[in-house]
Amino acid sequence: MLFYLLALMTTRHVVLAIDGPAGSGKSTVAQRLAERLRFTYIDTGAMYRAVALWALRQKVDSSDMHRLEQLALAAEIELSPGQVRLNGEQVTEAIRAPEVSLAASKVAVIPGVRRATVAKQRAIAGRASVVMEGRDIGTVVFPDADVKIFLDAQPRERVRRRLLELQAKGEEVAESALAEQMEERDRRDSSRADSPLSQAPDAVYVDSTALTIEEVVETILKIVRMRVTNGKEFH
Ligand code: C5P
Repeated sequence: MLFYLLALMTTRHVVLAIDGPAGSGKSTVAQRLAERLRFTYIDTGAMYRAVALWALRQKVDSSDMHRLEQLALAAEIELSPGQVRLNGEQVTEAIRAPEVSLAASKVAVIPGVRRATVAKQRAIAGRASVVMEGRDIGTVVFPDADVKIFLDAQPRERVRRRLLELQAKGEEVAESALAEQMEERDRRDSSRADSPLSQAPDAVYVDSTALTIEEVVETILKIVRMRVTNGKEFH
């Protein structure tokens, strides 16, 4: 399959879009897929988080749409494997704090912020084949993406995964508080007027609740083979 993908990539860039709610496994799965396919991995949530972090530091109110749009336009966000930089500063860990998660879902409601962020995402995919994960990639950012996946998992499992992730980093969070935060974020992400989280009509729904990461990766690779490489295997 790699040979065909490489041949295809010389003529045009491939977009693999993965959308879904928090804790569905998007980041881990998208990173592994990018490694396997040798595509660039783009975590679009990290962009909204970076804008939110900057806004929190500048004490910009989450209702100040104009200032927030300006911050999103001015933010220099660099994504490299395992690292996120905001205006040259390493913010990889800082953007994962729970208060930044909630703030990100608030700034992500603002159309001007979304316009600025989506423009950055489209620019990256103009230069390389990408595995891009987020909430609106298959619906708004790349409605013509070559492959669209809607990755989901049952709410209890999503909370369990996020809890394990935070515990692994030595963070103490009460499960009930985390569940509440995730529910609030999912509700805001799914109900906002601009680019809400929703499954594109032509996206493949994958439920990862009972699957291992490798199983999800293999499931998606099969779909990529069907849609992009005419069923050809890796060489
Ligand atoms: O994916 P992650 O949980 O890091 O995203 C943080 C927040 O950024 C989400 O809760 C959502 O509000 C916002 N987001 C978005 N559109 C995307 C990616 C993330 O609105 N494409």
